[in-house]
Parts: sequence; C-alpha cells; structure tokens
Amino acid sequence: MRTAAPIEHITVLGAGTMGSQIAAICALSGYRTTLVDIADAPLDQAKDLLWTRLERDVDKGRRCAKEVAAAQAKLQFATDRDAVVASTDFVIEAAVEDLAIKRQIFASLDAVAPAHAILATNSSNIVSSQIASATGRPDEVCNMHFFNPALVMKCVEIVPHELTSLQTMECTRILAESLGKEVVQLNREIPGFVANRLLNALRKEALNLIDQDIASPADIDKAARDALGHPMGPFELMDLVGLDVVYLIRLAEYEQTRDEASLPHPQIQQLYEEGRFGRKSGRGWYDYASA
Ligand code: NAD
Repeated sequence: MRTAAPIEHITVLGAGTMGSQIAAICALSGYRTTLVDIADAPLDQAKDLLWTRLERDVDKGRRCAKEVAAAQAKLQFATDRDAVVASTDFVIEAAVEDLAIKRQIFASLDAVAPAHAILATNSSNIVSSQIASATGRPDEVCNMHFFNPALVMKCVEIVPHELTSLQTMECTRILAESLGKEVVQLNREIPGFVANRLLNALRKEALNLIDQDIASPADIDKAARDALGHPMGPFELMDLVGLDVVYLIRLAEYEQTRDEASLPHPQIQQLYEEGRFGRKSGRGWYDYASA
C-alpha cells in the first residue's frame, strides 16, 4: 500500500511524441526525472527535439534560461529500465499502443519498482484494468492521460479501474496539478475516456455529413472553426494527429468493445491503406505537398 512519501523521482517510459514531452514537463516542474526507451536512438532524438524546443522557448521569452537549465539538469536519459525503476516513486508509461507490450512492461515494472510506486499509463484507449492484472499491485495502477502536445495542452484525464485505490487517485491528481495541469477525473473507466469521446462524436457526424454528400471536408472544417469557435475542424485535426493513428486507435477500440460501430470509417481505412496519413505524409484529407 502506498505511503504518503513525496514523489522525488519520476520515470517516464517511451521517448516518443508523448513520453519525451511528459518527461520535460516533470523536469520543468522540479522533479528528478528519467526518460527510458529500449534503444539510444529514440532517446537521442527526444533529447535533440526537447533541447531545441526549450531553447526556442527561451529565445521567444516564453521561459527563462535558468528554468530550462534547471530542467536539463533534472532530466536523465537511460535504456537500463530496471535499474532506473528500482529507485522511482512514480512511473508514467508512454510506450507503443499495444496491449501485449504494455502488459509485459507493467509485469516487469511490478517486479522491480518499490512497493509504494504508482504505475500509470498514458494510453489513449487501453483502460488500465487490462494492464493492472499483469501486476501484483492493481490498486496502484491507473490511466494518467496527457494530450498532444503535452508541453502545451493543459488537460490530464485520470481514470481509475475497479481496484485503483483512492490514495493512488489522490496522489496522481496532486502530481498532475503540480505539473500545472487541469485534472479531469473520471469515476470509472471507459475506452476513449471523456475528451476523445467528445471528439469522436464530432468526427463521426463530420464523416456522416460527407457520406451523405452534404458538404465538403473544407466547408465542414470551416463550420467547426467559424461557427463553433474550434481552433481547427475535424478533418484538419485528423490530418494533424495522423490518419494512421486515428485508424489504429479505432481498431484498438474495436478489439476492446467488439462493437462494429467502433471500426474505422471506410474512408479512413482507404486513406490509411493508400498511405495518406495527413501532414506527416504530405497528403490526407488535404494535400500539403502543393501548400
Ligand atoms: P510513439 O510511437 O511516438 O513513441 C513510443 C515510444 O515507445 C518509442 O520511442 C518506442 O521506442 C518506445 N517503446 C516501445 N517499446 C518500449 C518499451 N518496452 N519500453 C520503453 N519504451 C518503449 O508513441 P506516442 O504517440 O508517444 O504514444 C505513446 C502512448 O501515448 C500510447 O499509449 C498512446 O496511446 C498515448 N497517447 C498518444 C497521444 C498522441 O497524440 N500521439 C496522445 C495521448 C496519449
């Protein structure tokens, strides 16, 4: 059972899009933080991207140089997961969105992490009950879901499963708030949590409108921006997130729910199969090559 020991050392697993920025926020907030990946290459890339971004923030006056230097001193990069986790108080897992891999990771974490350490997953769609059962400490496992880009987006969703203890929820909430985040706390787990379910409802209706040939993606995006005040429309957002990611998230949800309504929309499947992943591939709903 968790004691009231303060969090001193945070381990973030996975140095990709999310993990690298989550680790940076932890270090910027004063926590000794270690970012762990399976190889040096993603760690080197994460370090380059982070330092460039933070130095740009200093140049633009968004952060002070002292704050960034302190964060750089607090943030370590490592591949030796077990040695790092042995002295950690809180783990945030942000490795690939694959249930079997996450279960393996959590079983290994459970074997080496101190008894009081909380093991949180940043998964967007895999609910933590599916992972907690790979450990001997299900009461200390929950979803702690950041949004992309994690350095900028304010919201963190915290989601318990049936066995998550109140202490784990409280400690995770206190950590998220100390990182400067606004917490949305769910009462119980549901795939997609709250924000992505709202987003999916909008996306579903946008796809329904193009199925019926009511309006073009560009006009639907314009309505979302100029009538509803959203910063971007649902098609622009899919292109930004990546249609590969959108497609794989729907498949993962289908794996969990077995509800055919969760399957990727046929047009998203087609774009995925054609390699039109959005901005990252130069083409998605929109064409960026000519822009
Ligand atoms: P990514 O593909 O950018 O990065 C994943 C990283 O995990 C890679 O660097 C990979 O080398 C590393 N990895 C793989 N196996 C590992 C292991 N066993 N131990 C440590 N590291 C390992 O993925 P991402 O987009 O950062 O997503 C990571 C997690 O965050 C997923 O669970 C995803 O659902 C969730 N998430 C993603 C977003 C998003 O917009 N991309 C938003 C919120 C949550």
